[in-house]
Amino acid sequence: MRPTPIATFALPPRWDGHEVTWETMPVPTVSFICPPPEPRYCGNCGSFFPPLMVRGLRHPLDGETFDSTRAKTGRFGRTVHIPTEVPAWPVYDLAAFRCPTCPTDEVWDIRTDEWWELDLDDYGPAGSTHPDTVHEETNDA
Ligand SMILES: [Zn+2]
Repeated sequence: MRPTPIATFALPPRWDGHEVTWETMPVPTVSFICPPPEPRYCGNCGSFFPPLMVRGLRHPLDGETFDSTRAKTGRFGRTVHIPTEVPAWPVYDLAAFRCPTCPTDEVWDIRTDEWWELDLDDYGPAGSTHPDTVHEETNDA
């Protein structure tokens, strides 16, 4: 089977509930990623050919915040950093890898340093959710 180019292939529109914007052009996997991922082979076909990769921009949930600090200068000119929370912003912290020899996609969640091989459910409108997440949907099957 001829693999579909990753740029024209749908990827999960959501990741653990977060909306994701995937890049449309694959970038060479020799590009620098910090920290660099382990050398990998395809778990489906065993190919060691470098996979195609696109980055995913994970958008924040409504009301989500990031931990931060704000600087406050005291009476004697000393600056202290006080913990605070700031509104979250979109972050490129997902990377999708397409095997060049079979239609297998894996996603590296850089935020949790977890690798996920996608299955058909992940491409649906609800996207990919962590298996520990309790699904509110029920099947009447
Ligand atoms: Zn493969």
